[in-house]
Amino acid sequence: MKYVIIIPDGAADEPQESLVGKTPLQAAKLPNMDAIATAGIVGYANNVPKHLPAGSAVANMSLLGYDPNEFFTGRAPLEAAAQGIELGPDDWAIRCNLVSIDNQIMKSFTAGHISSEEAKELLADLQKATPESELEFIPGVSYRNLLLYRGTPEKRAPFSMETRATPPHDLTDKSVGEDFPRGAGSDFLNDLMSRSLEVFQNHPVNNARIHANKLPATNIWLWGFGRTPQLPSFEKLHGLRGKMITAVDLLRGIASLIGWERVEVEGATGYTDTDYQAKGQACVDHLDSADIICVHIEAPDEASHEGDVTAKIKALEAIDRDIVGPVWKKLKSLGDYRILVTPDHPTPVRTKTHSHGFVPFTMAGTELIPDEHTTYDEPTAGQGLAKPQGNELMNHFILK
Ligand SMILES: [Zn+2]
Repeated sequence: MKYVIIIPDGAADEPQESLVGKTPLQAAKLPNMDAIATAGIVGYANNVPKHLPAGSAVANMSLLGYDPNEFFTGRAPLEAAAQGIELGPDDWAIRCNLVSIDNQIMKSFTAGHISSEEAKELLADLQKATPESELEFIPGVSYRNLLLYRGTPEKRAPFSMETRATPPHDLTDKSVGEDFPRGAGSDFLNDLMSRSLEVFQNHPVNNARIHANKLPATNIWLWGFGRTPQLPSFEKLHGLRGKMITAVDLLRGIASLIGWERVEVEGATGYTDTDYQAKGQACVDHLDSADIICVHIEAPDEASHEGDVTAKIKALEAIDRDIVGPVWKKLKSLGDYRILVTPDHPTPVRTKTHSHGFVPFTMAGTELIPDEHTTYDEPTAGQGLAKPQGNELMNHFILK
């Protein structure tokens, strides 16, 4: 028995005026997803409890069957796990975006998709300007970097789980004035953000970017604080050995913490220009040596963040053609299987950010009795099986 989960991140959306009232999932041509809906069932799940942040961290934990009410302790610790960083009981991980802010307006939460090399250089100089020995900047991929606070029982971090900061992707084109970190330890974080402003101003990396007509990284934005969560292994819970295919550290981290192997795919970018075919092929190639594989594609979410409905539809169609199609074909050739397609959370192009609410799913395979639905989209899924607690979907998906 083989299982595959395909996650088009942020695919769920609202009806669009520009699409004559259709959602991007309805407007996109998705023959393979529709065929799964026809062969199996559709339904809708809610992966993010109201009181937790709407986003990939909580949503994907839930989607993989872990109740976020019990296990979610912040986003950054998951990304630290992705990089193989172990956190002690007094350590905190903090997400450290490189951003472009102009006149108090968040121009870009990605600093214009700054390259990893440029980010590394900026953070190295920020580290040099940081005398506090407990602080460590960890460069990641592009704008997605981390700050670690290495605490001890004698010198505990000043923040708490109540410390708040707005995720920078929620601030695109908005004023940031009210959204700096607040609560316990926020002075400390705000000081660091101001320090970065000084270090990055007139930095050679930024001067070169401005010269090339790119946005400069004006400063760091600190958010997503937390300590390491204790997740029981997926194999222990379900008896299945898993692999994760993703270009995003958050998903790599969840995979590590639940005991899944990570498959790195050349050409996978975490953006709309990702190599869809290569990701589909990697899943096909690895099915012989895993019981369950999850393929996560960030592209639809990124298209929504940019408010680009055309790019979103294009990404969905590429996922259908280059990933869902070949993977489903391979599964059928192997014998007993189940396949599940579901986004983690909605990311409406209208708001350009993640939201709470239901996502549509479809699944097919061994011993799944088909329902009457024949397309995969939000309105159809809304007539199907309801999973108001998204983490319960996994028990429905996995055949006991
Ligand atoms: Zn997401």
